[in-house]
Amino acid sequence: MRTALFPGSFDPFTLGHMDILRSALKMFDRVIVAVGYNSAKSGFFHPDLRVRIIKDAVAGMENVEVCSYRGLTVEFCKQMGVSCIIRGLRTTTDFEMESVIAQANRKMAPDIMSIFIPAGHEYSFISSTVVRDVLNNGGSAKCFLPQNVDIDKFLKLREEEA
Ligand code: ADP
Repeated sequence: MRTALFPGSFDPFTLGHMDILRSALKMFDRVIVAVGYNSAKSGFFHPDLRVRIIKDAVAGMENVEVCSYRGLTVEFCKQMGVSCIIRGLRTTTDFEMESVIAQANRKMAPDIMSIFIPAGHEYSFISSTVVRDVLNNGGSAKCFLPQNVDIDKFLKLREEEA
């Protein structure tokens, strides 16, 4: 079975991420969406909430798993027995950053390949940063988020945890 890991901060998971996930599912039998985090960076949503948001986003989709991990992505790939890493590309800046990361990963783990998928043009302007800015200012970010995600519910949970 061909399995890929789609790692990211996903703070939060957006329609852009969903588009990349759907494309990846055309190439792989199974895709693991993995929220990577390090304890030094707290983020907007707690990683557990990010996982729950993604689980709601992908509800009903087959062959998708959602989890979180700490530490190096290549180490997590080895742990999961996965040899492909999916990343999305929006801009040339993304490409420059991603190719540096991919080369470092390849040096550390030559058997693990990075695969870049271009953003769909209707999603290429969407970023988690913009979504967080909108949410921080009390706006509605629904047009950037997967339909199944009740973001107000997660904002309440976030406040309760603060
Ligand atoms: P990270 O902090 O690891 O970059 P992100 O959650 O910001 O995590 O992004 C995860 C992956 O999704 C990255 O490869 C990023 O380039 C890609 N991505 C983010 N937004 C979009 C989008 N709108 N369209 C396509 N790919 C995207």
